[in-house]
Amino acid sequence: MLHSLRSTRFAPAIVGLAAALMIGLASPATAQQSPAGGALARVLVLGTGGTIAGQANARAGNAYDSGKVSAANLIAAIPGIDQLAQISAEQISSIGSQDMNDKVWFDLVKRIRAAIDNKEVDGVVITHGTDTMEETAFFLQNVLDTDIPVVLVGSMRPSTAIGADGPANLYDAMRVASAPESRGRGVLVVLNDTIHGARWVQKTNTTSVQTFRSPDAGPVGYVDTGSLRFLAAAPTKGAKLKLPDAPPLPRVDIIYSHANMDAAEVEDAVKRGAKGIVLAGVGDGNSSKGAIDALASAAKQGVVVVRSTRVGSGYVNRNVEVEDDKLGFAVALDLNPQKARVLLALLIANGITDPKAVQQAYAQP
Ligand code: ASP
Repeated sequence: MLHSLRSTRFAPAIVGLAAALMIGLASPATAQQSPAGGALARVLVLGTGGTIAGQANARAGNAYDSGKVSAANLIAAIPGIDQLAQISAEQISSIGSQDMNDKVWFDLVKRIRAAIDNKEVDGVVITHGTDTMEETAFFLQNVLDTDIPVVLVGSMRPSTAIGADGPANLYDAMRVASAPESRGRGVLVVLNDTIHGARWVQKTNTTSVQTFRSPDAGPVGYVDTGSLRFLAAAPTKGAKLKLPDAPPLPRVDIIYSHANMDAAEVEDAVKRGAKGIVLAGVGDGNSSKGAIDALASAAKQGVVVVRSTRVGSGYVNRNVEVEDDKLGFAVALDLNPQKARVLLALLIANGITDPKAVQQAYAQP
């Protein structure tokens, strides 16, 4: 379906100093109607930091610091975004997403649930660093039970860069979050004109603006200067697990497999109290005999073991090269190690540790 055209796509200077703002009303010709009856959909923007909020730093020619500009000021600098939605912006954190943590995740859930319960919003946009965006998206997908669009957005270039991609990405995210056809599609990630689903999206390149891809499924849609298109009707829902009252989630370590590997990393994880271990295995989620034996012994001691792969795409299937039934392992299927870790922490927090039940949860799209 075609939506409003965007007339400008340049990165303007960051303006304004407001800590929070309500951005004004739009012409009805370009507005998304609010299901609650207002002229525009109401979109809550939650800022967490990241390169999208980054500012140049004198350290080196291309150096910058993440999370310096508030979400309110990012929005204030984008011409025409106020014609898409009634926007309110709040700051949840101001960090690079390499520092993303359970506390910020719990704060996001609390705020989004309150906004939904109070019927304050028709959509949510979360500005976020790209490094761990896929983990936050997948976490939210598994604990939020809502049809309203929740859209994560970031950028690869800081707000002060020539050709900053943040303003266009944020504009696109606003279009997705305010569109009725985005409802019921789970948590989405929008960058570089592309819409991805939380289960499949991965950061795949250190610097390119075309870094986010969904290798096993493809994107769920596209948003560009003239249109918003979803490719399929099928939504993904996630496991809808309960969140404990407060962080932290149970400790789950990722062990990265490599040539010449012994049991030491696995044994160390058990010693430091990991309740779960995700293997970022070679190939189809494999590892050396020493590491697999150590994982089997960890599983016998009650540590939940899930095999994923370090290769970046493809499914890890049960019992192919590794005897999962016999050793008490689960496999992550299409989930990469970092997402497999998020799900395992949530499962353990919900008391789900039996390998069969764990396996079922990984199969839930
Ligand atoms: N280190 C940054 C972050 O994840 C990178 C980015 O946002 O692109 O916050």
